[in-house]
Amino acid sequence: MKWIKTIRIRFAFWATVLILAILAAFGGFVYFNLSFSLQSALDETLVLSASQTAATLNVNNGQIIPAEAAAPDENGTQSFTEQGLTLIVFTQDGTVLQASGPLQSTEMTIHPASPGSRSGSPSNQAEFRTISVKGNENLTRVYSLPVMDNGNVAGYVQAMQSLGSVQDSLNRLLTALLLGGGLLSLVAGLAGYFLAARALAPMDNITRAARHISTDDLSARLNLPDTGDEVSRLAATFDDMLARIENGFQREHQFTADASHELRTPLAAMQAILSVVREGQRPVNEYRQALDDLSEEAGRMQGLVEDLLKLARGENGLKLQLEQVNLSILLSDVTDSLRPLAAAKNLALNCSLEPGLMISGDTDQLIRLFVNLIDNAIKYTEKGSITLTGGQTGQTIRIRITDTGIGIPPGYQAHIFERFYRVEASRSSGGAGLGLAIARQIAHAHTGEITVESLPGKGTTFMVEVPKMK
Ligand code: ADP
Repeated sequence: MKWIKTIRIRFAFWATVLILAILAAFGGFVYFNLSFSLQSALDETLVLSASQTAATLNVNNGQIIPAEAAAPDENGTQSFTEQGLTLIVFTQDGTVLQASGPLQSTEMTIHPASPGSRSGSPSNQAEFRTISVKGNENLTRVYSLPVMDNGNVAGYVQAMQSLGSVQDSLNRLLTALLLGGGLLSLVAGLAGYFLAARALAPMDNITRAARHISTDDLSARLNLPDTGDEVSRLAATFDDMLARIENGFQREHQFTADASHELRTPLAAMQAILSVVREGQRPVNEYRQALDDLSEEAGRMQGLVEDLLKLARGENGLKLQLEQVNLSILLSDVTDSLRPLAAAKNLALNCSLEPGLMISGDTDQLIRLFVNLIDNAIKYTEKGSITLTGGQTGQTIRIRITDTGIGIPPGYQAHIFERFYRVEASRSSGGAGLGLAIARQIAHAHTGEITVESLPGKGTTFMVEVPKMK
């Protein structure tokens, strides 16, 4: 029963329903209009024939003197009867004086009911009625016209016609409407089905392609031609999504590979130290040296694992302990604590900050962010100075860390915030390339941004922008 739910079947169903509804409304309108017009035309003929017949009658002293009944007269009584009309002239007491037409044998005389009188006193009002006549399956329309003599009713002229022809016309119309409607609905249903099938054919392509894509092969793309329609937009969105997923998987892959590689280096160093020590008896100072080396390698590993943990935790957005932070104070404390490191390399560490730079942030994470940046500046600068400046414009606080170090070649600048990215192994300080990735994660968590400008051989400036506290 699944096929019933397919769009093409639903589309065909609704197309049929729609056509049927339109035809029913249109057909109903035409049917009732025609029915009304035919009946009005018939009524007009009845009135005309009755009044023309009445004009041929002579009334004397309340007595109707009929004209020559059988003689076809110039007023066209004959032609009326040829049209299937029955004309009966009868006196007020019901005596038929003259009758012609198909229903004359019924000799039916109908007295119009006198308005306001139930006793059947003669009515001087002309009247229409629709009655059923014995032996005639169709209803009959009757028009009774009083014949007056000095204000009294002398008798009536009664024109009658079966509604058979009207009914025939209406039946023919109904048959045509039903047949046409059935045929049209069928065509609409089939057309709906095929149109939907045609329009949705690319969907089946998408479904088939999506079924073939697995995590092992995320490089597959639908690559549907861009026709600008909904389906091609869907396919393009699908391809974009695949590209993002593939990218994510690749990054994940890279991360695992890089992390294991980074961890392998200190482990290999530790293995080497241990195997030297275990080769034979060694003087005590060598053991001590080996333990120091082991401890150093273990420290490196610990730092690396901590960095990896930090990054992994921040992967879906860092959880910040937000508080009111005075960046001016925080930054001058950070610079003070790192000054000995700069002094060890004979570097000046200057700090020029506008007072009262307030933000809403996480103190620990902010310290980590700026320590990473200043530490890098010290690491990658051989002579000169490192300058920290900070101020605010509008709603944004900008902190710049400028050094006079080796700089970063333009081609590398776009990548330095990626995890494990180091510019060149030869100039590497031994870091794992995680510091800037962590710094950017922290900046983003504070709805801020971090950017770099650098001239190789001249120096580098990192700029951190964070929104001012509201
Ligand atoms: P690392 O642990 O290698 O320092 P980072 O993520 O902190 O990792 O930095 C990535 C790379 O960016 C570094 O390897 C270095 O080459 C470059 N870099 C970072 N800061 C500076 C700077 N102030 N001057 C020059 N190069 C820098």
